[in-house]
Amino acid sequence: MAARGRSLGGMRGLATVPSYVVMQPTTLCNLDCAYCYLPFRAADRQMPVAVAEAVAASVNQWAATDRFSVVWHGGEPLAAGRERLAALMAPFGPEVEHHVQTNATLIDDAWCEFFAEHQMRVSVSVDGPRERNGERVTRAHRPAYDRIVRGVAALRRHGLPFSALAVVNDPSPGRATELYDYFLELGCEVLGVNIEETEGVNTRDNAHEAPAVTGFWAELVAAWRRNPRIHLREVEWSLRYAAAVLDGTADDLLPRRLDPIPTVAYDGSVVVLSPELAGFTDPRYGDFTSGSVLTTPLHTILAGAGRTPWVGEFIDGVEACRSSCPYFGFCGGGHAANRYFELGRFDGTETEHCRNSKIRLLEGVLEHARDHQSPGA
Ligand code: SF4
Repeated sequence: MAARGRSLGGMRGLATVPSYVVMQPTTLCNLDCAYCYLPFRAADRQMPVAVAEAVAASVNQWAATDRFSVVWHGGEPLAAGRERLAALMAPFGPEVEHHVQTNATLIDDAWCEFFAEHQMRVSVSVDGPRERNGERVTRAHRPAYDRIVRGVAALRRHGLPFSALAVVNDPSPGRATELYDYFLELGCEVLGVNIEETEGVNTRDNAHEAPAVTGFWAELVAAWRRNPRIHLREVEWSLRYAAAVLDGTADDLLPRRLDPIPTVAYDGSVVVLSPELAGFTDPRYGDFTSGSVLTTPLHTILAGAGRTPWVGEFIDGVEACRSSCPYFGFCGGGHAANRYFELGRFDGTETEHCRNSKIRLLEGVLEHARDHQSPGA
């Protein structure tokens, strides 16, 4: 099923216009989850409005011609407070879509009114039923689950649609069905599922037995097919790819150039491709930044981002994937941060992350299809 990487035209280098920008209004998070990658989450370093004004100068131009999103992602973005978040959002024009990724613990009626007023789309981080959220804890190391569900209940009370993002660190039999049933009950419209990743300050091993992970994804497809009410991000991507391979159009699925996905940190520094690299430094690669919006317009930074030394090395890695990996057409070469934090450099190819979340995902979807094909098909 996987189209051979070397036959694909696919992407070459970085696009200069992103499809969205990630903004860090504060480094602070009120939780202290065991698997979190963020280095400064105990410190409250806040984004000045001048940073948002500088980003908006480029974003408003892009949004005038195409759909464009700003994703507020911390720390915990709501820890910045409504007044500050409103001040940071004010420079963006009315056509810019705003999204927030939140741990939900601070959501109350006032926040729901804020989301409605600013037409902000909300995605909450929750890992499934109470007993699966043991890693999501407060700074006092108490379970955060009750506060998370209180926040979700407020969203539901206000009739606000929301997405959810779940981290799975134990893809054992039964987990996928439990997870999907839980989110059906929770009422989210879209669900993303991440197998825990080794990145940032999270150095925990993320290697799993291949059959367990493939079985997890196959079970998730089965659960979803029984009641496909939720948009299940990973499974829908996989099915779209499988259909394109069968139609002979798989090469059209990958963008021609990599989306730079700039992350603008609280201080205006810009890291492309992987938000998880923001705040880190390395003797070989420096601080991974491609510039600061306080001194250079964002569109100018992105026009030159391909010359950032580690980015060039990453693009070499993508080309190595293209010529060696049968899953390239589905994956597009994976994420920079996974390579760096697992392999120590950017031009390697396979990582545990891509095995867990690309290769075994596609294998799981195919396993489900094989197990459920009609007799004689
Ligand atoms: S990141 Fe992994 S799955 Fe993706 S193309 Fe490279 S080797 Fe293949």
